Amino acid sequence: MNILRNYIDGAWVESASSQTIDVLNPASQEILAKVPFGADTVKDVVLATESSSRAFKEWRNVPVMKRVQVLYQLKTLLEKNRESLAEIITKESGKTSAEAIGEIQRAIENVEVACGTPMLMSGDIIEDIATGIDEMMIRQPVGVAACITPFNFPSMIVFWFLPYAIATGNTFIVKPSEKVPLTMMKIFELIDQLDIPKGVLNMVHGGKDSVDTILEHPEIKAISFVGSTPIARYIYSKGTANGKRVQAQGGAKNPVVVLPDADIDMTAKIITDSVYGCAGQRCLAASTIITVGDQTQQMKEALYETVKARTTGYGLDAGVDMGPVITAESKNRIEGLIQMGIDEGANVLLDGRNTSVSGFENGNFLAPTILENVALDKELIKTEIFGPVMSLISMNTIEDALKFVNGGNYGNMACLFTSSGASARKFRNEANAGNIGINIGVAAPMAQFPFSGWKDSFFGDLHGQGKHAIEFFTQTKVIIERWPKSWSRKF
Ligand code: NAD
Repeated sequence: MNILRNYIDGAWVESASSQTIDVLNPASQEILAKVPFGADTVKDVVLATESSSRAFKEWRNVPVMKRVQVLYQLKTLLEKNRESLAEIITKESGKTSAEAIGEIQRAIENVEVACGTPMLMSGDIIEDIATGIDEMMIRQPVGVAACITPFNFPSMIVFWFLPYAIATGNTFIVKPSEKVPLTMMKIFELIDQLDIPKGVLNMVHGGKDSVDTILEHPEIKAISFVGSTPIARYIYSKGTANGKRVQAQGGAKNPVVVLPDADIDMTAKIITDSVYGCAGQRCLAASTIITVGDQTQQMKEALYETVKARTTGYGLDAGVDMGPVITAESKNRIEGLIQMGIDEGANVLLDGRNTSVSGFENGNFLAPTILENVALDKELIKTEIFGPVMSLISMNTIEDALKFVNGGNYGNMACLFTSSGASARKFRNEANAGNIGINIGVAAPMAQFPFSGWKDSFFGDLHGQGKHAIEFFTQTKVIIERWPKSWSRKF
């Protein structure tokens, strides 16, 4: 069986660890590969960091226009390999081919935006800030940076950071999720073809041991993390305590408010796509739908019809809307949460448990579930489900709905469906979440904009993507200069 290697210093290197865990196809449980794991992966991270440190000395002085040429090459390679990458993503993460193609597009867009780094990282200068004195601010790279990523977007999430990090002159280590390492293996095969000095980009595998070494190694100056809230909080507190810059994106529980003046059919379709896309395993998946006022019954019926029409199956098969969830444990956890909702008093409109897909009887499949009247004072309403489950509740006014939206611990996304500009404006202004959708079901910021989680969905100051990423991967330096004429030789 294929034991995955690390990519260190421009070469494929066997891990120091002989311990591995299986990478499984969630639709079939087929073992796709074995990924290095355990205490000895610490040595891999140390090796990668030493390589990154050496490469940094040279790379930071390569002119920025030259550094971005690598990104143009990478964009072309990603585009040429879109289909084969998408197939790997589906095989290891379970999402459908269309969803996999969509996430690669989002990765490419980040490469495109980072190609603007020659303008984005420029500084400021004021001549004669005092008589005969000039002052300037320049941006310099921070050094070795690393990212630690989750399972649900095996390609895209690394690209919220990687292109900006290297374009600004840093060197970069990727630690992909141990559940889906094969997509990054393929991407590093493409990286291996770039005209880039060895050590600028390294990849190491593993889990907690690798991550803890990243958090502790003094040569690593910046860490970008995306994953669940407890781990994001841990990464942020430990990384910052060790003097590093950290941006750590966490979990979510996204509310969507539907006002009585919303277009019912369009709203039902958009919300259904949001809740069940990627089998609900998106940090911007709608989770709780709050219908306001007198259209609750029609909205509920429209949602029921749209949701029921969705097909569950293997992501590589045509006509499939939704694949499996990532692991058998995840499936059990989600089924347990559905039961918890029922025990807490919810009514089941659609029950996706006990689903079987012909030919994939061992897969981690769940069909779409809708829970109605979920208790507001109990646990399920607060818990991130990260699976294909919609919770429906109703309220009397937009004020009640906003109070509910703002009462939650997470702040990744909040959406409103309405045809009223004034209501939209009120919601946009008052909702306490970093990504707001108005008649949009997945308010995913494009690459130009920061991925703005708030509250327990984000720990840090500067987010991934766009100008925030440029700022995160650079440190400002202010220089004040005096050059008196009398001190200079005359020629
Ligand atoms: P996870 O937190 O289990 O794992 C994420 C990464 O952390 C992996 O690389 C893993 O190896 C590492 N890790 C796991 N346990 C660790 C530990 N104890 N110590 C150190 N490192 C550890 O997350 P996941 O299950 O892969 O992904 C799903 C979660 O990610 C969900 O909560 C989802 O909301 C969140 N997510 C958030 C965003 C966002 O933008 N906010 C985007 C995607 C996913």
